[in-house]
Amino acid sequence: MKKRILFTTIFRPFSKPGKYNLPGDEKFLDYFSNRLTREPGLFVLHDNHPTVAPHLIAANIDADVTVLETPTIEEFKEELGKGYDIVAITFLTLHFPKLMHMVAWARKLAPEAKIVIGGFGTALYDLDRLEVDGVCQEEGIGYMRKLLGQSLKDPVEHPVITFDIGLRVGVQHPGLPKKRVGILVNGFGCPHACEFCSTSAYFGRKHVPLLGTGQALLDTMVRYEREAGVKDFIIYEEDFYLYKRHINDFIAAARGHGTLFSYGCYATIKALSQFDIEDLVDSGLSHVWIGVESIESPFNKSMGRPIREVFEELQRYGVTTTGSIIAGLDHHKRDNLRGEFEHLASLFPSTVQISNLIAGPGTPLRERLAQENRLIVDQLLIDSHLYSDQVVHPEFGRGELRELIFQGYDYIYETIGPAVYRMMKTWLEGSRNLRRSPRERLRARGELLARRAAAFRPLFLDTFDFLPNDAVRAAVKECVAEMEADVGPPDEQALATARLFRETFESEVRRLEREGPHVYEPPTRTSRYAGRGGTFTTPAVPMTPIKRPFDVNVERLRRA
Ligand code: SF4
Repeated sequence: MKKRILFTTIFRPFSKPGKYNLPGDEKFLDYFSNRLTREPGLFVLHDNHPTVAPHLIAANIDADVTVLETPTIEEFKEELGKGYDIVAITFLTLHFPKLMHMVAWARKLAPEAKIVIGGFGTALYDLDRLEVDGVCQEEGIGYMRKLLGQSLKDPVEHPVITFDIGLRVGVQHPGLPKKRVGILVNGFGCPHACEFCSTSAYFGRKHVPLLGTGQALLDTMVRYEREAGVKDFIIYEEDFYLYKRHINDFIAAARGHGTLFSYGCYATIKALSQFDIEDLVDSGLSHVWIGVESIESPFNKSMGRPIREVFEELQRYGVTTTGSIIAGLDHHKRDNLRGEFEHLASLFPSTVQISNLIAGPGTPLRERLAQENRLIVDQLLIDSHLYSDQVVHPEFGRGELRELIFQGYDYIYETIGPAVYRMMKTWLEGSRNLRRSPRERLRARGELLARRAAAFRPLFLDTFDFLPNDAVRAAVKECVAEMEADVGPPDEQALATARLFRETFESEVRRLEREGPHVYEPPTRTSRYAGRGGTFTTPAVPMTPIKRPFDVNVERLRRA
């Protein structure tokens, strides 16, 4: 008889201060509004990203599996009474107090079940004291197959996992457009071994492939299109372009297929420098996250073509970018940190991430800083997130870098405008160049980018007064005006959508003045997998608004 397994994330709520929540917990609620589009205005994006690993594992083991995401503790307790053989809990470092609470309840309410824990939180030290039956500190499908006595050679099939991206104001004001994106995990781990990198350390500085071949990756995209109508993807792999032969196989497979898929990925300058970017665009590259880290990046991964040249070329092809930097590196001083923000803005990334230097458990950085007596001793190891204050820096006082980081986000917004404008401008530039390409597929991609830019235009037609300053207003107006030559004037539908955005922004300002800012708790999601195979799609359930001060200043939303 098949084993019955419960996979669960840690429980919600995340945003209420309390016994099990640490400051910063709510940062995990939404990738966009907390990091990539962390802006003081109303153009912020929002997503409802699923926890991917449990779905990947559940779809590839011979067992009856329930995947529970962000349940309340009461829902978790109720589920424990349903006779599971294994209770598997995935957690991040920050969520350790919740993990302990859940392990205690699992022991009490499911005494016959084996308890297994996994996820990046298992990089913490002294997990033995939890006395659980298993700690997964490796690739999870293989770990669970070993536990179940299943062959490790069984094929791996990627489940269909999707999520939606839209404007954050759309959470409270339904009806605004959203984009559905498919998630593809192509591999884990990274051999570049940057000293601060927790994911690289977690997988022992090794790369662990999941889908194996370029053809398998394309076949999975084709299946997503067939089963969920999805043609846009985010590919999770630390450095997607690292393995040249694999990528060349993928480029060849993508070129031979009729559908124009689009994907976002993570890549280093070192790996990108191996390729002609036009070939990558032909394979579907539409967004790439590049770890810029610093003007004087001390990391091996930054070797290759000059970073500015790469960003500029990507933009010429209409590829949107995320540029991320770290504040608090050894060479940072009061008088050069501002230069890092200016450098980042000058690359015109579509979205940005500015983080503090974090010394996660198991990383070489943590070892080095411990030897140098530079770890803040009263800082909990588990209080580990993008903006944590963990490291003693001779140039900056306690908490100072965190404040400078938030000023950095504001600087980016006020200098180069909202992320959604930067995306629209990049698509417009790419459409112009690609429409003139001698290659037919690239011309078709140019048309696709023109449609994308045109789809974003209504957001800016009637919201100029919500932009941060005159310089940004002028830049956005110019972009919108120039677009007419490329895609024609806005039609009736675009004008109606523009009015909808205007009304929504007005309504959101009134709501904020009346109710104050909110954070949004994710819903509980339950998915079931009966043996290998299975499909997960985002259920249509609402987010829960929780009234709580957040990083929105109503005064700054609109400036005449
Ligand atoms: S290149 Fe990126 S993923 Fe790889 S070790 Fe460095 S920071 Fe980590």
